[in-house]
Amino acid sequence: MTIQEAIQEYDDFRQQTRQTDSLQAIDNPLLHRIGETADALGLECYVVGGYVRDIILQRPSKDIDVVVVSPDKTPSPGIQLAQALAKALGKGAHVSVFRNFGTAQLKWHEHEVEFVGARRESYNRDSRKPIVEDGTLDDDLHRRDFTINALAVCLNEAKFGHFIDLFDGLLDLEDGIIATPLDPDITFSDDPLRMMRCIRFATQLRFQIEEETAEALKRNAERIKIISQERIIDELNKIMMTPSPSIGFIELSRSGLLPLILPEVAALEGVESRNGKAHKDNFYHTLEVLDNVASNEASLWLRWAALLHDIGKPRSKRWDNTAGWTFHNHNYIGQKMVTPLFRRMKLPMDERMNYVEKLVGLHMRPIAIADDEVTDSAVRRLLFEAGEDIDDLMRLCEADITSKNREKKQRFLQNFQLVREKLIDLQARDNYRTWHNPITGEEIMETYALQPCREIGILKQAVKDAIWDSVIPNDHDAAFQFMLQKAKELGLEPVKACERHAST
Ligand code: ATP
Ligand code: MG
Repeated sequence: MTIQEAIQEYDDFRQQTRQTDSLQAIDNPLLHRIGETADALGLECYVVGGYVRDIILQRPSKDIDVVVVSPDKTPSPGIQLAQALAKALGKGAHVSVFRNFGTAQLKWHEHEVEFVGARRESYNRDSRKPIVEDGTLDDDLHRRDFTINALAVCLNEAKFGHFIDLFDGLLDLEDGIIATPLDPDITFSDDPLRMMRCIRFATQLRFQIEEETAEALKRNAERIKIISQERIIDELNKIMMTPSPSIGFIELSRSGLLPLILPEVAALEGVESRNGKAHKDNFYHTLEVLDNVASNEASLWLRWAALLHDIGKPRSKRWDNTAGWTFHNHNYIGQKMVTPLFRRMKLPMDERMNYVEKLVGLHMRPIAIADDEVTDSAVRRLLFEAGEDIDDLMRLCEADITSKNREKKQRFLQNFQLVREKLIDLQARDNYRTWHNPITGEEIMETYALQPCREIGILKQAVKDAIWDSVIPNDHDAAFQFMLQKAKELGLEPVKACERHAST
């Protein structure tokens, strides 16, 4: 069968027709050039893996992977082909060679092609680094992770477009199934990263994980421990960036991987009831919030804030005979959990982490304001604390309203609208996003001839509170007068020069 026939079969199954120009991805000049160059060198070559899968699925095609086979077993045929091709393409082509891996990468205009010799791999139990030998195309396809990723198309001119599908990957593409080509227990045990990839593809493509494969995930979950955190987070972030990340998190939970990689999120799962009163399942609630922000094309970090917004709940959960289940201060407890989680997960410990922390800490505030009277001073305080992340905070909070009670949901959304209107109003009056305290520590130290000490912090905080609560206006003179008064209460006396300054 040719790739064109495979595409036709897929389209017939899906009862769809596609634009003929989408076949460009396979019938294009660069792929023909690769085949001709290989012919001249006496090498066989195939485009494989994700590129072939994505052509059939009509997904935007990315990097091209080419497997090269040398019939007379000359070493590193991938490098040989890449270099010959670069020469043939002339100016504009650039090759990087990785001798240790026997691979080469060619960049030509917007294309990126990876060349590798066909290989055969065997594993030992303690590492995901295989023992690699030269192999045939069949060997190479046998080491691939999923049937839908083990497809190949021949590029040599005589057989150009010939479609190779050893494990019925085309059928799995039609049925929307993720399955391993070999025994899934071996596939996952050999390289446990494939478990994360399995769930990532299921989420990105909205495919089902085949039953045996899903069972093997459960049996091999523990082996994820030999995989580096960087690789895990890479896959997790790809799951996070899909339109419905909940699909991936449900699979992570079902397979037993979630408690191993994100125990804080796994701990949200479950419902407890007392005296007939049950609290909601915070895991499913969290996934709903995450999907809500994802459906608005949120950034990766807003998605992380959504995923983590309630992680303080398990630790703050109490039963109260009159109030029922309570989660007091879960936002602050959750906020404190962000830094250790980011450190462990090898997520960036910079302003992106601070942003997630801030949103987790503040996520109850707009709700509390909307639930009560929406006063200027409450909204102003919120604006000061959220700063330039106020819009994202509001998006998170709106996504957080997952009540099934329509009336209740409507009331919250209406009050939120009120908060938003006040926010716009206040922003127009003052530039709160870039607010800073008009009284600095230096000024306090100068005024009272102080060395750095506790009182300075107390005074700055008092000034900040007074402005944020609209006790005094947001300007230096009012703040300075207020500071003098507060300092007096603390028993501080200004030195002479500053008394003069204060009275002008
Ligand atoms: P995408 O590029 O969209 O992430 P992909 O399938 O192209 O998806 P890559 O990581 O680019 O994934 O890998 C290219 C191909 O290499 C895969 O299609 C698969 O055949 C093979 N592959 C990648 N990683 C593994 C792995 N850990 N185990 C087995 N085969 C793998
Ligand atoms: Mg790829």
